[in-house]
Formats: sequence, C-alpha cells, structure tokens
Amino acid sequence: MNTYSKLPLSLVAMVLSCMMVSKAIANDAPAAASAKPKAVAASGPSDDDLSKALLNKINKGSGDIVIRTGDLPTGNPPPQAKPETKPEAKPKVAKAPAKPVEKDPIEVVQWTYMDGPGGPENWASLGKENLACMKGKSQSPININVDRAVKAEMAPLEFLYRPSPLSIVDNGYTVLVNYGEGSNVIAEGRQYRLVQFHFHKPSEEAINGDRTDMVAHLVHQHHDGSFLEVSVLMSTKPPASTRRYLWGNDEVKGNSLIQTLWNNVPLVKGKVETPPVVIDVNQLLPADRGYFTYMGSLSTPPCTENVLRYVMKTPIYVSPEQVKNFDRIYPMNARPLQPKGDRLVKESTGN
Ligand SMILES: [Zn+2]
Repeated sequence: MNTYSKLPLSLVAMVLSCMMVSKAIANDAPAAASAKPKAVAASGPSDDDLSKALLNKINKGSGDIVIRTGDLPTGNPPPQAKPETKPEAKPKVAKAPAKPVEKDPIEVVQWTYMDGPGGPENWASLGKENLACMKGKSQSPININVDRAVKAEMAPLEFLYRPSPLSIVDNGYTVLVNYGEGSNVIAEGRQYRLVQFHFHKPSEEAINGDRTDMVAHLVHQHHDGSFLEVSVLMSTKPPASTRRYLWGNDEVKGNSLIQTLWNNVPLVKGKVETPPVVIDVNQLLPADRGYFTYMGSLSTPPCTENVLRYVMKTPIYVSPEQVKNFDRIYPMNARPLQPKGDRLVKESTGN
C-alpha cells in the first residue's frame, strides 16, 4: 500500500484511472494477452477496492488523503498473504495456466521504394490503413502535361515563412526537417502551417514527362487536419537564358540552405538532431511563384488523399555535388507516377 500513501489526491486518482484503462484494453485484447493483468491484480488490492477506499476517505472529509491497508474493504486480505484473488465459490471454468501464450512472431515488412514485398505495388497490402495507396483515385505524384493544364488567374500562394531552429532527422526514407511554429502559407483564403519539409531523388512529380534531379516537399497542415503540400523542383541545370551569367561555367553554386542541411544530417537514422543552427525555408523558394495545382495525396503510406498539391513551375538550383551527397544516402526515393485519371490540373498565370 505504500505506493498509494501520502500521494496527492489527483495523483492517486490518475493512477487509478490508468489502471482501469489498462484493464479495459486488456479486455479487448485476444485471450492470449489476458493472463498478464490478472497476475498484477493478484499481487495487490483490486481497483474496485482502491476506488471504494478512496471514496470513503473523500466522503469522510478526513483532510489528508492517505489510504492504508485498514481502509480497504474488510475481507480483502493483505496483498502478500493471498496467492489468488478469485472467489473460491466460482467454478473454475477453463482457468488456463497463467503462462502467457507466446504470439507467433509476425514478419513485419517495411515499405520501401524498391520492388519487392514492401515495394510501391504492395504498399496497400502492408496494412489496411494503406488502402488508399491502391484503391485511391487521386494519388500522387503525377505527370503534369503542361499543354493540358487549365490556365487560370489564381491568387498567388502567400508564403509567410520565418526562420526556425534546425531539427533534422534521417527517418530511413528521406532527410526530413521539422519546422518550428509560426510559418504558414495562405492558399485560397485558408491558412496552413508549415510542419516539415523533406526531399526526394529524383523529383516525384514530372513536368511533360521529365523529372528533375530532386524535389523538396513542404508539408503544411490546416487546423482541421487537412494537408497542403508545395513541391519545389530542384535542378542542377540552369536555363540557357541564365547560363551566360555563369562565366562559361555551367555548374551552379549550391543552395546555401541545402548545404547547411547536408552538413547537419545525423549520423544515426531515426535520431532527431537539433544543432544550434537557425534556418530559413524561404531559401528553398524560387523567385518566380507561378505554380501548377491539383488534388492529390501523400506520396508515402498511408497515401492519404484530399491533399491540395502545388508544384512550383520554376525550380531552384542546386550543385551537382549537393545532389550527389543526397544520392549517397538515398539514391532513389521517389514513388512511381500515379494515374491522373480525370483530375484537373490548373496552371497559374500572371504570378
Ligand atoms: Zn514527399
């Protein structure tokens, strides 16, 4: 009983409610799992007894809420004295030995970009939460055929980004940056918060059948839970019109934010690093804010749909060395193109 002595009332109540919750979960679990909670109950007073004792104390208004063994309903022996709390009178119906049944080890297949059991064709079979990966009708990425895009005068995306402390992780699928609060994009009058951004190689989305060297996906979420993703294509090949400024050298200078990120990629996968560095995601945006937009999905399991997708028409430029460095971690982490179906793709004009 010492565990419950001299604890603040709220804490005791919390412990009790936790115990009840864990009991409820155990009840829903398959029979194999039920042996464990019983063993716990046998080693001390039952939840009901503790609740009753607690209520008694509260009703008496005895000030300090301290529960002693004596406060428990009579007939409940001290915990250590009793090996089995089940009333003897009840016939023992198939009381299985307390030995927990070992679950068959389930072979967990991780999703992957490579063909095989975990490959893109099989994502849906890896769990029912991934059903949209196969059954969905508005999946991403798609090829954008510029000639077929509907040209429309649409409001520009309003990027309200501010600097953030760096929080970076190699999650086993990409290099991902968690972005601090307070950076938003406004699209069609709705505000979405920038949550994270990450990279794919090559770009997942294609324009007229071409994929660029890489893409940055800026993932935003509205407070109603819906997603908006901005794709910024990344290319090592500047357009011919700007090449003459490069003094005969076709290689563009690297992007400084990309360099900062690559410098800080954690050595250990899955470990979130927060080096003392401040970054500004504005450095990933092209000067020209024209875009294509369509309704798509998350491009990784669970392939959630109704994601408002924006693909910036103009890429940002990165150095071949920067692409090569990402290639050393993830040579290919792009989902295959998905059928566009009868979806509309709109192209912004005039911004
Ligand atoms: Zn992505």
